[in-house]
Amino acid sequence: MTFASLGLAEPLLRAVGDRGYSEPTPIQLQAIPVVLEGGDLLAGAQTGTGKTAGFVLPILDRLSARPATRQNGKAPIRALILTPTRELAAQVEESVRAYGKYLPLKSMTMFGGVNINPQITQLRGRVDILVATPGRLLDHVQQRTVDLSGVEILVLDEADRMLDMGFIRDIRRILALLPKQRQNLLFSATFSDEIRLLADGLLNAPKSIEVARRNAPAEAVAQRVMLVDRGRKRELLSKLIKTHNWFQVLVFTRTKHGANRLAEQLDKDGITALAIHGNKSQGARTRALSEFKSGDLQVLVATDIAARGLDIVDLPHVVNYELPNVSEDYIHRIGRTGRAGASGEAVSLVCIDEYRFLADIERLLKRKLEREIVPGFELDPNDRPEPIVMGRRSIGGPPAQQRGGRPGNHGSHAGHGVHGTTGQPGHSSRSGTSHGQPARPARGGNGAGPGPRGPGGMPASRGPGGGGHGPVRGGVTNRGRSAGRGR
Ligand code: AMP
Repeated sequence: MTFASLGLAEPLLRAVGDRGYSEPTPIQLQAIPVVLEGGDLLAGAQTGTGKTAGFVLPILDRLSARPATRQNGKAPIRALILTPTRELAAQVEESVRAYGKYLPLKSMTMFGGVNINPQITQLRGRVDILVATPGRLLDHVQQRTVDLSGVEILVLDEADRMLDMGFIRDIRRILALLPKQRQNLLFSATFSDEIRLLADGLLNAPKSIEVARRNAPAEAVAQRVMLVDRGRKRELLSKLIKTHNWFQVLVFTRTKHGANRLAEQLDKDGITALAIHGNKSQGARTRALSEFKSGDLQVLVATDIAARGLDIVDLPHVVNYELPNVSEDYIHRIGRTGRAGASGEAVSLVCIDEYRFLADIERLLKRKLEREIVPGFELDPNDRPEPIVMGRRSIGGPPAQQRGGRPGNHGSHAGHGVHGTTGQPGHSSRSGTSHGQPARPARGGNGAGPGPRGPGGMPASRGPGGGGHGPVRGGVTNRGRSAGRGR
């Protein structure tokens, strides 16, 4: 099957050829004809499947086939693509420009974190396709600098992430501003009840397509679990990178604060590293990404939300410096490696506090992962699990209600603290942190000496620079949903 046989216009085929794509991916094969016909679409597809071209190509085709009807003498915005993050917005718009390079259509990206004035200036000119994050779009709506009354096609890209990030009200406000008669495309990696509810209200007799979900990681990914004391993770990571001379290592932390600190510490260890997350300026993020892609930067430290949608695939090494508290994120993370037959390695550094996350992940994978202990990093037998503080939430510790994660991801947590280690399933919370209370400050977060621990607790820091566990407890200023928000 070729792109030509899908019926795309010649200028698009030429642009696809320039990109070097020889044949459509499965999602493109299914989505392109539906969109070309003008129908609504509900698509289950993750990043890495080629979903972007799956909607961008037919949108460009449709818009170029019919000239715009001018409103008050001005060409209207005809397609609106909403994305959860700035990075994704930038990447989608880059695709629009690449695939539309032989067409006279104009596109624009709109996200927060940058000066609004150049965007206002750009909006005064012609914009056929707007790629935006919801927050900044609503800022423009409020300032009356954008007119959405001529939108013919709406795309919600990574809709599940948008809901996870708390954008539902923003999305509904935006929907209310669009013409009733329009084509709607909804892309989502997962289908929760919330997504289905949104889809039910939004889509009109949609075609439903789904490409093979990667609920099982690529065979080529070797998954390794290294048990390590919470205070020695950074030391172990530095050792692994240096000993094996790893390059292009994507390291995941749970919080922005943790990402920053880890990048700084690795840099001190002589490993070039930068953090990428929602609090970084757009310029800094773009720079970090391009240095990483070019190989000048050895390590990129990212939060899940910042990493999602990044066009970085086929990496040799993915490291879970901290396990995600949402098991599906584990699959997303390790899916960055081992693609298209390339071999890849995903290493998880797991401390006693995270055994329950590991058990959740194994339930999702439907298999046990073998544990390793690196010589020289033997576990402190007296250590006990402690709750993990994330923003106002405290994750871990015994009360199941305090667990983070999406609804439906809780399951039964019997049997945590497993696998021959010293975890105590019945251990009670000592953090004193609870919902609605300020989280306790980062203990040992600056590498300062040991903080108070429970009986037999080990020092917070052992290695040079110390505080390697800091990100786990140190991310006390973020609430997960604010990370990478597109304001
Ligand atoms: P996406 O899922 O849209 O983020 O795309 C993932 C990656 O696949 C991007 O690097 C695209 O450039 C690439 N890609 C998209 N379509 C094709 C295709 N038909 N053949 C090869 N690569 C593709």
